[in-house]
Amino acid sequence: MRNLSVLVSGAGIAGPALAYWLHRYGCTVTVVERAAAPRPGGQAVDFKGRTHRTVLERMGVWEEIQAHRTGASDVVFVDEHGTRRAVMSGDFTGGDVEILRGDLAEILYRRSAGSCEYVFGDSITGLTETADGVHATFEHGPARTFDLVFGADGMHSRVRRLAFGPERDFVRHLGHYYCVAGASPWSDSATPRERATAYGYNAPGRLAISGGSKAQQLYLFAAPELEYARDDVDAQRRIVAERYAGLGWEVPRMLAELAEFDDVYLDSMGQVRMDRYSAGRVTLVGDAAYGNTLGGFGTGLAVVGAYVIAGELALADGDHTAAFARYDEIMRRYAKIAGNSNAGRFLAPTTAFGIRLRNWFLESRLFSLMTKYGDNAANDIELRDYAALLAAR
Ligand SMILES: Cc1cc2nc3c(=O)[nH]c(=O)nc-3n(C[C@H](O)[C@H](O)[C@H](O)COP(=O)(O)OP(=O)(O)OC[C@H]3O[C@@H](n4cnc5c(N)ncnc54)[C@H](O)[C@@H]3O)c2cc1C
Repeated sequence: MRNLSVLVSGAGIAGPALAYWLHRYGCTVTVVERAAAPRPGGQAVDFKGRTHRTVLERMGVWEEIQAHRTGASDVVFVDEHGTRRAVMSGDFTGGDVEILRGDLAEILYRRSAGSCEYVFGDSITGLTETADGVHATFEHGPARTFDLVFGADGMHSRVRRLAFGPERDFVRHLGHYYCVAGASPWSDSATPRERATAYGYNAPGRLAISGGSKAQQLYLFAAPELEYARDDVDAQRRIVAERYAGLGWEVPRMLAELAEFDDVYLDSMGQVRMDRYSAGRVTLVGDAAYGNTLGGFGTGLAVVGAYVIAGELALADGDHTAAFARYDEIMRRYAKIAGNSNAGRFLAPTTAFGIRLRNWFLESRLFSLMTKYGDNAANDIELRDYAALLAAR
């Protein structure tokens, strides 16, 4: 492909994956990330099925991901006395391979860091498209012009806001928030973590999970949209403490521990709905384009989306209009799975009856069928072997 200069916003999962592929096809890549370094934190995320695996193998990171896998825990739902009420199998929550999100972000970053320019601690402030490029301004660095700009900056994407419009037009708040804490101490381990059991306790509109392979703590609670600064960890701890005040079971112990954890990540659960992923020379990848928090295969979609857009661009020899149209067509179909889940409602029902019903469902055969649907949807794409197609030319 002819050499293009590209800017990627966000060094989470989609950003570094995209940077890797774009460089491999001959682009000069700059990644700008708001945080000061690749961000640790987040619970374990999972990959499922041959599509995810094929992409990760083609990137050369599959073995390393295996080496850092956490194993998948069952979640045993208990009542306030600790009596078992239902079990959600680790095979459902953990996919084929589960890895802490922070470890995955680090692996993908290292895969591309040697060949791409990474600018940490900065963010795009403005994008102006001209006939032959996109002029980008930054909070700190000097303005620069690129051939193409990719928004891989997550659910609350700034690129999406600048190129498409305000967040409220594209992100539906699903009525719940989640908070993950205490996931990083395991990330130094190069050996798979022992499969352990996680325990979950529900009160109406709230779920607290303690232990297991995903993170030491996971809170999930119903709430309307909350005002808080995303980088204010104290505010996030306070929000959780207020929502869980007065609950029994192990919750008081969990809240005391939460006060000591540094890696606390709170976010709303949302669903992104876009009519198109591209506007001129700007396109969105990962959560920015088709995110659906928890259970929407967000991480798998991010790596597959990065693979597809870079491959299509290479096949079209840098013709972004043709490539973005193909990307839109392929990912719109594949990302459908993200539109169908609302994990908050399922995991933290808002009534006592809803909790009982959910527990009954988990123990029924219907639940196994749902798991199977997820398996099929993760593979519902005809993945092209772009490197082979390019080599055959
Ligand atoms: C710290 C963290 C913890 C997470 N924890 C979980 C979790 O526990 N469970 C779960 O299901 N999902 C979690 N997610 C979301 C999950 O990573 C994504 O759903 C999925 O992996 C898709 O990745 P993505 O790269 O599209 O988005 P993300 O992983 O969200 O990455 C987006 C990146 O863009 C950066 N960014 C944001 N705004 C700007 C800006 N204006 N300028 C420059 N950079 C910007 C962010 O700092 C981040 O590094 C978490 C995300 C983050 C950032």
